[in-house]
Amino acid sequence: MLTWVNRLSWYAPISAISMELVRFDMQLMENPEVSGVEYQQGSLAGYEIREYVLEKWQRACAYCEAKDVPLQIEHIHPRAKGGTNRVSNLCLACEKCNTAKGTQDIAVFLKKKPEVLKKIQAQAKKPLKDATAVNSTRWKLFERLKATGLPVECGSGGLTRYNRTTRNLPKTHWLDAANVGTSTPVVLITKGIKPLKIKATGHGRRKMCVTDADGFPKHHKERKSSYMGYRTGDMVKAITPKGTYWGRIAIRHRPSFRLGKTDVHPKYMRRLHRADGYEYTYETKGVRDAPPHG
Ligand SMILES: [Zn+2]
Repeated sequence: MLTWVNRLSWYAPISAISMELVRFDMQLMENPEVSGVEYQQGSLAGYEIREYVLEKWQRACAYCEAKDVPLQIEHIHPRAKGGTNRVSNLCLACEKCNTAKGTQDIAVFLKKKPEVLKKIQAQAKKPLKDATAVNSTRWKLFERLKATGLPVECGSGGLTRYNRTTRNLPKTHWLDAANVGTSTPVVLITKGIKPLKIKATGHGRRKMCVTDADGFPKHHKERKSSYMGYRTGDMVKAITPKGTYWGRIAIRHRPSFRLGKTDVHPKYMRRLHRADGYEYTYETKGVRDAPPHG
């Protein structure tokens, strides 16, 4: 991560960093268990509450426990029957359960499943534990980003979603990233932008010591990690008498490297990208969706 802050600073003048530190901002919700009045109005507080409810119900349907499906915020006691918009009256439902329940009271809907009813009623009353606690990995990252000396702005997941939705942008990881924090411009020009996906692949195996059958360290010859200037993981294009190949190579200490399912002599190769512990891809077919948040 820090490697990339430094690398990107090299390519473009970065003057500030925006980071999504928390999923929701408690300060914007006051007491999340008694507020919630505005949640459908598309207000920022509404987005924060939505994130809170998602977290409270662990991003699963309260009725059938379905995960990774679109989830709707659901009134436990229906609005039509005097139920409030308070968070303690909200849960999550998948579309199927939401439709099946309709405007029925929960006690009627779960008539045949008293244990589910009991569980939901108990869960609804329980405020989210440690709602303000920040994930320790994110804290560490925040500290390290601050150490760069650049100003670091922190936003919540609710704010990210609010920013992206009010700008009419689809739900993708990169657009979420572009919408973090209050500094997000009113208009984001996203047309024609192809995000570059960078995946850490590591620097190959790190074997500390090889032991023999009796458990004693084997004397091993230090092998060079490159051969004829190539390293395992290099991206190459090879034009051979048998055909043209692209891909990542696995080197051997003789002039025959593994490239996909074939062995190729390095003399046919041209390196496109030196192995640096990362894999780079462009998402060409549209943009992949982020996992559903409901
Ligand atoms: Zn369901």
